[in-house]
Amino acid sequence: MTAAADVTHTPDARPPRANDLDALLGRLRDAAKKDGAPSYEARVKDLDKLDKAIRGRKAAIADAIARDFGTRSKHETLFGEVFGVLSLIHYTKGHLRDWMDPEDRETSLVFLPSTSQVVVQPLGVVGIIAPWNYPVRLALAPLVAALAAGNRVMIKPSELVPGTSALLRDLISETFPADQVAVVVGGADVGEAFAKLPFDHLFFTGSTRVGKMVMRAASENLVPVTLELGGKSPAIVGPDFDPKTAAARIMAGKTYNAGQTCIAPDFVMVPAASRDAFVEGCRAAVAKMYPTLLKNPDYTSIVNDRHYARLRAYVDDAKAAGAEVIEINPSREALDAGGAGDRKIAPTLVLGATDKLQCMQEEIFGPVLPILTYTTLDEALAYVNDHPRPLALYYFSHNREGIDRVLSETTSGGVSVNETMLHIAQDDLPFGGVGPSGMGHYHARDGFDAFSKKKAVFRQSRINTTGLLRPPYGKMADRVIAMLLGR
Ligand code: NAD
Repeated sequence: MTAAADVTHTPDARPPRANDLDALLGRLRDAAKKDGAPSYEARVKDLDKLDKAIRGRKAAIADAIARDFGTRSKHETLFGEVFGVLSLIHYTKGHLRDWMDPEDRETSLVFLPSTSQVVVQPLGVVGIIAPWNYPVRLALAPLVAALAAGNRVMIKPSELVPGTSALLRDLISETFPADQVAVVVGGADVGEAFAKLPFDHLFFTGSTRVGKMVMRAASENLVPVTLELGGKSPAIVGPDFDPKTAAARIMAGKTYNAGQTCIAPDFVMVPAASRDAFVEGCRAAVAKMYPTLLKNPDYTSIVNDRHYARLRAYVDDAKAAGAEVIEINPSREALDAGGAGDRKIAPTLVLGATDKLQCMQEEIFGPVLPILTYTTLDEALAYVNDHPRPLALYYFSHNREGIDRVLSETTSGGVSVNETMLHIAQDDLPFGGVGPSGMGHYHARDGFDAFSKKKAVFRQSRINTTGLLRPPYGKMADRVIAMLLGR
């Protein structure tokens, strides 16, 4: 039995305890000390192994996630999770040699001809805590960066998708030595114990609420954190943009994974004059993408009964508050006939949404789209800036000045212009939130950097003038200082 299996397959099937986790971390740390930083070739080999393991299980991955969700579009799994990670591996391999090279920096004039460099090193053993909504991508994309940077890794996937978490555990234990990468399965209690471990870095993806707990726990050991959190990402339809085209793109983002995406457009702001055309566009877009919902394999279920009830409560709350609620159910199916059995919620528009509604106070994380109206761009930007800084922002316009204003006057993790979500799919762009939507970045070189120590290295030259500035300070030192300060 491998060492990881000692922890993740306890003989009595009990969840791992704090001692088990400590012991596992100790084993990974010992191995890191013994073997030192892996070479470029070894890292590429690790990335190739991961690539092969994912490719070989792509159908199993799609099946496992579908079983955990009820329905999860196979295409969305293969594109959003499997391809997403493979593409990142490919990109990373293409740049890794460059990233690993020491980088020459300028040496301050007074210290010439000595030299300065930044040398990158693995941090050591890092932890990754993943959520359920893209359970493979959000565990393995950070792993790609952590391995590329030469670290050993412990991963804690989400308990809400137990079949997928078990698959991840097997994938990893069959691909990597147990003292290099290990998966620890378990619930919030295991997550809590995991976050207390003295890792060299802790990478967390999940809710802002749990992110605070993770940061608090990590602070006890001064473990640096990357927090990839959530929030309410606005979409703004500019006054010049065709509302129907915007509606089609926004509904595509809102219904992908049934809206259970950290960067899904959470709510939309449309010019008051084009609201009705926008609503028509939403209806048309949904009817085209999903002629039926209930048994449609393309339309993903809500992950569990709790989240289903939470989303239903948002809709009930909006109705009770007098908002106009439009459920877009093209074939008029009885979605709740079997209770929450299929856990499908029709794409639902909430018109006349105000900040008093629950759906405007919480991150929605489902296919419910509040629609707000505005009259001037100033008003729309003021609304965004009066709320917590979002993970993503979407602006639809062909007007250069307007786009520049939105980009410069708002702060968000990322932006897609005239589209939703696709900035995350660009391997060369950093991904990460700001303020309550997160801290730190990954993807691109930023992921490699997040898991690396950048060591400042100064090399003194044989012949140098540094001795001129040593005590006892006399006339020479006075002259040097006068020269430096220009009197
Ligand atoms: P969550 O915060 O409930 O759970 C995330 C992980 O943390 C799970 O593995 C869970 O077991 C673990 N956990 C729970 N309690 C813990 C504790 N006290 N200490 C340590 N770990 C603990 O999030 P979720 O419901 O799985 O995911 C949905 C949230 O994640 C949404 O808010 C969404 O926006 C966010 N998200 C963000 C990104 C991003 O990249 N920024 C991506 C996906 C999801």
